[in-house]
Amino acid sequence: MFGILKKKLKKAVEAVSKRFERKERIAKSVGKEVEERIEEVAEKPEKVEEVIEKIPEVKPVAEEIKEKIKEAVEEAERKPEEKKSIIKRAVERVVKRVVERRLTAADIEPVLNELVTDLIEADVALETAERIKEDLEKSLVGREIKRGKERELVIDALKQSLLSVLCVPQIELLSLEKKPAVLVFFGFNGSGKTTSIAKCAKWLIENGKSCVFAAADTFRAASIEQLGEHAKRLGVKLIKHKYGADPAAVVYDAVEHAKAKGIDYVLADTAGRVHTNKDLIDEMKKIVRVNKPDLRILVIDSLTGNDAVMQARMFDEIGVDAVIFTKVDVNEKGGAILSVTHELKKPILFLGIGQRYEDLERFDAEKFVEKLLQV
Ligand code: GDP
Repeated sequence: MFGILKKKLKKAVEAVSKRFERKERIAKSVGKEVEERIEEVAEKPEKVEEVIEKIPEVKPVAEEIKEKIKEAVEEAERKPEEKKSIIKRAVERVVKRVVERRLTAADIEPVLNELVTDLIEADVALETAERIKEDLEKSLVGREIKRGKERELVIDALKQSLLSVLCVPQIELLSLEKKPAVLVFFGFNGSGKTTSIAKCAKWLIENGKSCVFAAADTFRAASIEQLGEHAKRLGVKLIKHKYGADPAAVVYDAVEHAKAKGIDYVLADTAGRVHTNKDLIDEMKKIVRVNKPDLRILVIDSLTGNDAVMQARMFDEIGVDAVIFTKVDVNEKGGAILSVTHELKKPILFLGIGQRYEDLERFDAEKFVEKLLQV
């Protein structure tokens, strides 16, 4: 599960940690010598080339050092008695960037850019990947850390960023106020909607609740029978009309049935495809208008990849209260989970982790991130 995403995150942790370590190494090994050499240059600025030659670590900023010395010498013409300290300050400012322990934006920019590309390869949408990059920049640039704590710090920064993307208030499914609570499931054909409805029913029953199904996909051949099969196996009543009937009316009848029988939850299956996407959205809007569901649940196949965000946007026209991601058990990339949550700012109710009824896992952002960052 999420092997690719895990690998990409691990790679970033290693790369940023290495930058830290390199900075520390340089700071430690040349820090003292640099201090002495700056003194030497401040005394005899004409010797700058010679001095730079002795410390390879400052070579990348050699031109800048020479430039600053030139400026400092000119400035010192007006205050000759301060010449040494003027030169010293100017050189120190440049050299500090190279020998300081703290990470600069320039130090980690290449690593973070690579992380963005890697995340996109793991199905994370560009905006979400950029957001993670910005979070890391904010928490890592300017940080000075103790030796040996580099990885811990980078993992923590990544963890905070992923959590801030994923942490939206969770819905307490078992304590919804209304009875019956009406749950309408949306999603394209094949997303795992019908299976997820059956899994949810099983979960609710195990938690002491009663359910009724509404077969409101009156478009796709065999959809009513498919839900009917689950209903039979789970001992749940199925409310159905004929194919081509008004789906809003099916849900309405299921709600009436639940009211009459004191049933806790109505779980409505809906069409995953009609003639056009616009027709589909209009049909869903009507179901919502007529039945005012307590939860509009979008079911997304996590294997959809980057298209998942487009789907989320499309269904958000109806309004989405929560998401279920299916087929997580066979998904190596996992980025869609981050992107869709970042886009919708709505909680993930469950993850579908297999084809059996019990293969449904309540989503816990902390646990999820913990697993992703386990090395
Ligand atoms: P619907 O068209 O959206 O109602 O989709 P279905 O519920 O019929 O599911 C489509 C296929 O995905 C079926 O073969 C399901 O067994 C399979 N499926 C659904 N959820 C999961 C899941 O979490 N993991 C795996 N591996 N397969 C799933």
